[in-house]
Amino acid sequence: LVSPLVLFFMGLGEVQQGRAAIARVVELADLEQEEDDGRTAIAGHPRAGAPAVEFRDVGFRYEGAATPAVDGVSFTLPATGVTAVVGPSGAGKSTVFQLVERFMAPDQGSVRLLGQDAGDVSLAQWRSRIALVEQDCPLMRGTLRENLVYACPDADDEQVRDAVRAAHLEDVVAALPDGLDTRLGEAGVGLSGGQRQRLAVARALLTRPSVLLLDEATSQLDSDSERALRETVTSLGDRCQVITVAHRMSTAMSADHILVMEGGRLRAQGPHARLMDDDELYRRLADQQLSPVALAG
Ligand code: ATP
Repeated sequence: LVSPLVLFFMGLGEVQQGRAAIARVVELADLEQEEDDGRTAIAGHPRAGAPAVEFRDVGFRYEGAATPAVDGVSFTLPATGVTAVVGPSGAGKSTVFQLVERFMAPDQGSVRLLGQDAGDVSLAQWRSRIALVEQDCPLMRGTLRENLVYACPDADDEQVRDAVRAAHLEDVVAALPDGLDTRLGEAGVGLSGGQRQRLAVARALLTRPSVLLLDEATSQLDSDSERALRETVTSLGDRCQVITVAHRMSTAMSADHILVMEGGRLRAQGPHARLMDDDELYRRLADQQLSPVALAG
């Protein structure tokens, strides 16, 4: 139960935020317990070779909203690879993420993870297969190593080194005065936004997720950080299915698959070259870039 929940601490470093975070985790634990009590059926192991994530005609409307935030959306994403979700503001990108995480259930259709329907898998088991890296990833007070293994305290040195490599953090670690044992956060060394997000990626990887949801930072990154983050995302696609809300065209362009959303609907999907030919909105978003705001909405 604890392992997926501690991921909610990711990015919650400040002591003041700590209390609110703990309250939220306790609340979620209660919710999870409640749901799992009524849903003891756990459908064994995921099907080998099953798609990582499948949406089948999914619809969802927020309470009181006039129109659905997600409407009749269907897609299938394989076990590995990088998928970029793009579209203007309010298109439904974040809602898709929240449905994958099961923060809410669809009003229509079904969401499947590793070939299993949400109704057949407990929330704890479901969440243990997903890692979320949010846009803003403040540091926790403590060493870099402590920041990394927070969600996975049993990780050994080799696993930590592997996660650092995969998140393209090796140079960052090498430049710190005490390497992995350097103190970060308040009264310690600071990291840039891009570095913090890669740190959060390394932390997420230690939990060996099947699906990694990454809300790419909208803040301006310097070109080195931007390239490092893009390379990180690309190489993660060999390990799991990475779904990213892409606020940069460069991320979308290097993704294996792109979902183009507009007004809650999935208006087109495919690789960059095909969408440039086939989809007018995608072409417009691409042309407007390289301004990150234009793509993110
Ligand atoms: P952005 O790029 O601005 O983050 P988005 O593509 O992620 O947008 P969503 O946040 O998924 O879009 O929102 C889809 C629609 O649902 C929008 O019309 C939005 O106003 C609405 N919406 C989102 N969250 C809520 C909520 N908690 N309650 C009511 N409506 C919401």
